[in-house]
Amino acid sequence: MRSREVRLAQRPVGEPKPEDFELAEVELGEPGDGKLLVRNMFMSVDPYMRGRMNDAKSYVPPYELGKAMYGGAVGEVMAGGEPGALVVHQLGWREAALVDADRVQPGAVPEGVSPSALLGALGMPGLTAWVGVTEIAPIAEGETVFVSAAAGAVGSVAGQIAKARGCRVIGSAGAPEKVAYLRDVLGFDAAFSHRDDVRAALAEAAPDGVDVYFDNVGGPQLEAAIGALNRGGRIALCGAVSQYNATEPAPGPRNLGLLVGKRGRMRGFIVSDHAASQGAFLDEVGGLLADGRLVLAESIVEGGIEAAPRAFVEMLRGEHLGKVVVRL
Ligand code: NDP
Repeated sequence: MRSREVRLAQRPVGEPKPEDFELAEVELGEPGDGKLLVRNMFMSVDPYMRGRMNDAKSYVPPYELGKAMYGGAVGEVMAGGEPGALVVHQLGWREAALVDADRVQPGAVPEGVSPSALLGALGMPGLTAWVGVTEIAPIAEGETVFVSAAAGAVGSVAGQIAKARGCRVIGSAGAPEKVAYLRDVLGFDAAFSHRDDVRAALAEAAPDGVDVYFDNVGGPQLEAAIGALNRGGRIALCGAVSQYNATEPAPGPRNLGLLVGKRGRMRGFIVSDHAASQGAFLDEVGGLLADGRLVLAESIVEGGIEAAPRAFVEMLRGEHLGKVVVRL
């Protein structure tokens, strides 16, 4: 079987450009022992992939120049296993792949739900959201929770879990349509655009302060959240997407010292350390979905593998709502 894959042609400086990627065709051969031939139906584009395009020390190795990129994908088994079985694996950025059978997760979605949800609310981003609000910066009923990039893959789930657990939820997003979506579709109590004066907008949305901040973006929103944090407040450092294309290190929040008097806590985390929470996460988030209390925020980009680099850049720019996946 022949498959096309996207390779890293050169390391981007700033925002990735089309020439940083290269489309190549490969012959996959037969699945030998312990391998599955999988035809990918959807591949994920995620902010962390931008970091892997740099040659920098991180919690995961960088993508190699001239080699296919990889990341979450959901596909169906063509050979080597049960034909037609749905699997989630890490050989995205290609149309098909020979995948180690012991490195796939069986994929199951409720009736009427697209398998792409396994890359979003029911997958890695959903688990990230759940871990953030339950283990890293635990929320409690009645508390005020602020979520940035709230119309995105992780943020939309974090905010909806907080809402379902009886919190007052404030979200931020870029475009006015996303801000309206947070209020009107996801049922957040307040929402504002991070293009406005973030400190003033947060003060207006949270007159009694913020108990928990779920930080997806870093930068001015993190600083504003530290300023608005209540005594004993918690901050989950999930990501800093506002800085992923930066060519110079960004200055940190200028008001970190406030955390002392506020008895505040700020903790970073990486979702892959929390695989043991998968069952509890799926119980809660799957339950909310089944009860109609969780909206799956998702954008499916059409155009096949050729569209993947563009979809990735558009996702980083915030041009799509919810979890961004590419249909292959
Ligand atoms: P999203 O679906 O939220 O997509 C990225 C979003 O970032 C865009 O939609 C855009 O939203 C926002 N954004 C881009 N530039 C800026 C900016 N300058 N200021 C503010 N917002 C900006 O991505 P994910 O939900 O997949 O990821 C969200 C965060 O969580 C990322 O930081 C990611 O790295 C992190 N993450 C961390 C994990 C972990 O284990 N710690 C695991 C998974 C994700 P808008 O249009 O509203 O501006």
